Amino acid sequence: MARIVMKFGGTSVADMDRIRNVARHVKREVDAGHEVAVVVSAMSGKTNELVAWTRDASPMHDAREYDAVVASGEQVTSGLLALALQNIGINARSWQGWQIPIKTDNAHGAARILEIDGSELIRRFGEGQVAVVAGFQGLGPDNRIATLGRGGSDTSAVAIAAAIKADRCDIYTDVDGVYTTDPRIEPKAKRLKKIAFEEMLEMASLGAKVLQVRSVELAMVFKVRTFVRSSFEDPDAPGMGDFLNPPGTLICDEEEILEQEVVTGIAYAKDEAQISLRRLADRPGVSAAIFGPLAEAHINVDMIVQNISEDGSKTDMTFTVPSGDVDKALKVLNDQKDKVGFDVIQNESGLVKVSVIGIGMRSHAGVAASAFKALAEKGINIKAITTSEIKISILIDGAYAELAVRTLHSVYGLDKS
Ligand code: ASP
Ligand code: MG
Repeated sequence: MARIVMKFGGTSVADMDRIRNVARHVKREVDAGHEVAVVVSAMSGKTNELVAWTRDASPMHDAREYDAVVASGEQVTSGLLALALQNIGINARSWQGWQIPIKTDNAHGAARILEIDGSELIRRFGEGQVAVVAGFQGLGPDNRIATLGRGGSDTSAVAIAAAIKADRCDIYTDVDGVYTTDPRIEPKAKRLKKIAFEEMLEMASLGAKVLQVRSVELAMVFKVRTFVRSSFEDPDAPGMGDFLNPPGTLICDEEEILEQEVVTGIAYAKDEAQISLRRLADRPGVSAAIFGPLAEAHINVDMIVQNISEDGSKTDMTFTVPSGDVDKALKVLNDQKDKVGFDVIQNESGLVKVSVIGIGMRSHAGVAASAFKALAEKGINIKAITTSEIKISILIDGAYAELAVRTLHSVYGLDKS
């Protein structure tokens, strides 16, 4: 017997038929003797609709009322799933965030979970009851409903798994696992059996949109073994209830991955823009004068490259921001012109950052060199490079994104079985 959290996203609970299908997945695990807490999202599209209503009601909306409205999508699906479970003979009840309670900070609309009291859920597991928990929501210090930011029910699921010391947190979604790269770009992409927390964090931050980034951070900190699998397979197909080896991808501690490949996956982030400041003063405080105001304007700066000064007095600085933030960034920088003392600003949009990810890189030389050589052979020009212990990121023209992803995917042998 194990204790598991099963989380179902919006497409998995999109209508009553799908909710009944989810109930069958839950029944399978209950029948196998496991203790189960289920976490649900709102029906797909519902949260967008609720958000739009709050904007319509008041463009400068009060974040506490926004939360009261948008949390309602999960209230509906948790109740409906509890009913569907009861209907097939399973003892189940729904829980809203405030009832558990899942305590959060007071950053309404983007709250962080502070504490979860799992004792009542655990007591009821002992009585054979399944808990169906509304994802995405908790209770703020002001005693009002708080939501966790878009995609937050993944984070609810991992946090609950940590609080009730679950053996595993199964994230059921509309894809059947985490792939070596985006299968829409490279059909030879392979589903990974396992991926380390750190690697998944890099993949998720780069837009492998399987999980909310925050949920992966939390899983890493609390070492919650998190499993990504499909809710669309027949709940009773062979192997689905295999506890040790179900179909999907396990996100886990690197120690659990015995045969570590050098490279695990290739990720990409579209719509990057590069901004260059030419001939700015090479003296203490210049970087702070550039990046401080950008941070205050909530502009997310990524790759930063500063040239070595030729004459000891002037240098160049290049960095990337999301394309959508270019105009705002240029305005912020021009306002700083006197302090920073640059000659000209140049910018280029429509770039893509392609990243090679793998914890095996820590102990292997030449990983970056192979990427550069392969891209050169395809005539792809590199505009900027950054590296970390487990990642090499390369900025290129957007037109070459797909070619670069496929090239790198094959260079590291990821398309071989
Ligand atoms: N329903 C929320 C959203 O759409 C939370 C979630 O689905 O994870 O963002
Ligand atoms: Mg989601």
